[in-house]
Amino acid sequence: MYDNTVKDYLDQFPVTADARAFLEQPRQMFINGEFLAGSGDGLIDVLEPCTGGLLAQTPAATEADIDLAVAAAGSAFREGEWSKTTAADRQGFLLKLADLVEEHAQTIAEIESLDAGKAISGCLAVDIGGSIDLLRYMAGWATKIEGATRSVSIPGEHLAYTLKEPVGVVAAIVPWNWPFNMAIWKICAPLAVGCTLVLKPAQLTPLSMLYFAGLCQQAGLPPGALNIITGRGSSVGNYLVSHPGINKISFTGSTEVGIGVGQAAMTNINHVTLELGGKSPMVFFEDGDVERVVQATQQSIFFNTGQVCSAGSRLYVHRSRYDEVVAAVAERASAMKIGLTLDPTTEMGPAISAGQRQAVLDYIAIGREEGARLVCGGEAVEGPGNYLQPTVFADCDNSMRIVQEEIFGPVLVIIPFDADEEAVQLANDNQYGLAASVFTRDISRAHRTVSQLQAGSVWVNTHDLIDSCTPFGGFKASGIGKDLGPEQLTHFLETKSVWIEL
Ligand code: NAD
Repeated sequence: MYDNTVKDYLDQFPVTADARAFLEQPRQMFINGEFLAGSGDGLIDVLEPCTGGLLAQTPAATEADIDLAVAAAGSAFREGEWSKTTAADRQGFLLKLADLVEEHAQTIAEIESLDAGKAISGCLAVDIGGSIDLLRYMAGWATKIEGATRSVSIPGEHLAYTLKEPVGVVAAIVPWNWPFNMAIWKICAPLAVGCTLVLKPAQLTPLSMLYFAGLCQQAGLPPGALNIITGRGSSVGNYLVSHPGINKISFTGSTEVGIGVGQAAMTNINHVTLELGGKSPMVFFEDGDVERVVQATQQSIFFNTGQVCSAGSRLYVHRSRYDEVVAAVAERASAMKIGLTLDPTTEMGPAISAGQRQAVLDYIAIGREEGARLVCGGEAVEGPGNYLQPTVFADCDNSMRIVQEEIFGPVLVIIPFDADEEAVQLANDNQYGLAASVFTRDISRAHRTVSQLQAGSVWVNTHDLIDSCTPFGGFKASGIGKDLGPEQLTHFLETKSVWIEL
C-alpha cells in the first residue's frame, strides 16, 4: 500500500480503477498458480522514482519459497497439466495472454510508469506494445518447432532423425530498466516450446510482473508453468541460478553480475543465455544526415533516461561535420521535457533510484576531471525525485573512462575522427559489443562499415529499432545467445538424435 506522497501524485494524475485497486492490495508472489505471501517476514520497499514515495512492499523470498517455486515448475514440466499441452494449446495461451495485456495495456503502463519511472507515452507504445507483439509472434512459433531426417551413410539400413525437446525448467532473471518488456522477452519463447519458468524481477521493479501473474490466472495458464518470486539478486537471484532443479538460465543484467551467473550455470552444467551491458557506438560520416542522428539520440541515449542497454552512448563524428552535429544534438537534448512520468507530455523521467542518479553524477564528475567539454546538462534537477539533466560531453577520446564504461544514464560522449578506418577502429575499441549504428548516404560505405563493426545489432541511419522477429544479443562482453526472433527458440530446445535399424 502506497504512502501519502504517492497518493498526492495519484490525485494529480488519476490512474485506472484497476491500477489503483492493484496498488492498494498487499503484494504476494506467484507460485504454482497461486498468490502466496511467502514463508519469511522480510519485506522490500519499492519506491516511486518521481517523488521518492513508498509505492509498495514485496516479500523477500526465502530459500524455502524458491524451492517451492522450482518444484512447482519441475512438476508442471514433467507430469502436471502443462506437460500434457499440445503446441496448439501453448499457442492459445500466449495469444490469450496477448489479448489480456492489450485489454489492460493502460493499467500495465501506469503501474510500470510508477514503478520504473518511465514516461508513460513511450512506455505504452514501446514497452507494452512491443510485449503484445512478442506474445503473438512467439505464439506463432509454438506450432512450428521441427526436427529433421538425416541421410546417414554407415553400412546397413537406418532411419535417423532429430527431435526438438524443451530443455526443462528455466530460471529467468531480469533488470529494472524494462521490467515488463524484458520479462516478456524471457517468458514467451520458453512457454512456446513447452518449458516452465521461475522468474525473478529486479527488486526495484517487481510490480508489473505481479500484475501479469493475475492475467496468467485469468488466461487459465496451468499451475507451475510460470512462477514469479521477488527479492534481492544477491540472495534470491543467486540461490535460484545455483538451484539443482534448474535446467537453463536466461539472464539479462550487468556484465559484472552476468559473469557470476555464467559460473553458476557451469557448476550445474546448465544452458545459459546472458544479455549484458553495452557502450554502443554511433558513427556519423561526413555525408550523414544530422536530423537522423539527432532523432537516434532521442530514441536511444535520451530515451528511458538513458537506462537502455543498447543506447548509442558514444558518438563518433567526422571532423568536417563535428561542430554542426554537437550543436544539433545538444540543442535537442536541452529542450527535452523532463517531468512526472504519468504526464503524457513528459519526454524524460527520473533515474530509477537515488543510487543510480548518484552513479551517473559520479561519472559526470569523472568526465569533467578527464577534460571532456560539457556542452549541456551535467547536473541533477532540483526538487523531489531522481531527476537528471540530459548531458552531452564533446571533445572526448577513447582513453577516457566516460567513453569506455557503461554509465547507464542520459550521458552522451562525442568524439571526432578523420578517416573511415579510424572510426571503425575507435568504435570497436571497447569491451562491449551489444549494438552500433552508422550514419551515411553512401550505400557501399554503409555495408562495409556494418560488416566491420563488432556488435550484435547494427542500424543504418537510425538506432535502437527492435522487432519481435529480429534477434537481439551482444558480442564480446555484452553476452552470449539471442533473445527475440527464431534464434531465441533454439536456446530452449534440446536436440535428440534418434536411430532406427530397419
Ligand atoms: P544487475 O546485473 O544489477 O541486476 C539484474 C538482475 O540480476 C536483477 O534482477 C538482480 O536482482 C539480479 N541479480 C543481482 N545479483 C545477482 C546474483 N548474484 N545472482 C543472480 N541474480 C542477481 O543489472 P541492473 O542494474 O538491474 O540492470 C542494468 C544492467 O542490465 C545494465 O548493465 C544493462 O546494460 C543491462 N541490460 C542488458 C540488456 C540486454 O538485452 N543486453 C537489456 C537490459 C539491461
